[in-house]
Amino acid sequence: MNLPEGLADSFGRRIDYLRLSVTERCDLRCAYCHPGRHLDGDSADVLTADDVVAIADAAVRLGIRRIRLTGGEPLLRPDLEAIVARLRQLDGLTDLALTTNARALAQRARPLAEAGLDRVNISLDSLNPHAYAAMTGGGHLEPVLQGLDAALAAGLEPVKVNVVLAGAVSLKPPDLASFVTLVRRKPVHVRFIEAMPVCSQTTYLPAEGVLQQLSQFGVLAHAVAPEGGGPARYFRLDGSQGTLGVITPLSEPFCDRCNRLRVNARGDLLPCLFSPQGISLLPALRGDHPVRDLMALLQQGASAKPSRYGDVASCSGLVAMHVIGG
Ligand code: SAM
Ligand code: SF4
Repeated sequence: MNLPEGLADSFGRRIDYLRLSVTERCDLRCAYCHPGRHLDGDSADVLTADDVVAIADAAVRLGIRRIRLTGGEPLLRPDLEAIVARLRQLDGLTDLALTTNARALAQRARPLAEAGLDRVNISLDSLNPHAYAAMTGGGHLEPVLQGLDAALAAGLEPVKVNVVLAGAVSLKPPDLASFVTLVRRKPVHVRFIEAMPVCSQTTYLPAEGVLQQLSQFGVLAHAVAPEGGGPARYFRLDGSQGTLGVITPLSEPFCDRCNRLRVNARGDLLPCLFSPQGISLLPALRGDHPVRDLMALLQQGASAKPSRYGDVASCSGLVAMHVIGG
């Protein structure tokens, strides 16, 4: 089968990566992401498993090679393994990843790996149980650490850890020290991410300051990016199994290298993280020719990508990140 090279946007960027949100429900309340107080119950997800597979199928036919399942919290979907197994069958998909808060990963890592998941990114903003609880609206740290170990044991590698630098959280040296200890002991890749201002609680904290603080732990040598690449810059401390990295969408935007489309949990295609409005995929999904119509909409979404996020409407009024998918 001849596979296409990827979608091109109006600025010559090759679009080969899809972030696909499978739920907007979540069992945590990270302030920079999910401002609501009420924890989600059993409310139904908009996209069915068939919808998720149909969107992915159309995307892969157009040359998307990498798909990340995100949310909300994807592990809240009991059918996640079934979805992964179906996506794994798509000819041309080379990388199938998951972003998760890992609360339930200890039990799900092996079944997900067996279903065909390649790797995971785990959100873990602090290794201090009290700070973690404060930042996540009451989350417990221990199951997350068990989930991280289970991901390593199941071979869902490279395991990356996302630490959002939200202003509410001051990453003091002791906390950085615990992340340094983590990468010294385990082959994980910790990335400090500048918080994007998608909801009002978010305060911007530049990643450069973290790099400066990290240099007190030794020489930070530039490191090769682990599988999956992306916009992070990685560094290795001598003797560490893993790496430390920064993702700097605000201090050093990487829009010129943007290679992604997003579908949010409501079935809207977002040309850019900051797109004020998405293109609803629901009519195509519920119509008579879903694959053909989804392919047309995905092409339309790629063409609608702005050259940089500053070119789209201001972020005020955007829905929160747990709907967009990060
Ligand atoms: N619940 C899963 C999790 O937390 O990993 C997946 C969904 S979450 C929205 C996806 C990613 O977006 C997480 O790594 C999270 O830290 C990140 N994120 C959420 N809000 C953000 C913000 N305002 N700026 C930057 N990253 C954010
Ligand atoms: Fe939930 Fe993930 Fe958002 Fe935290 S970052 S509230 S875990 S969706």
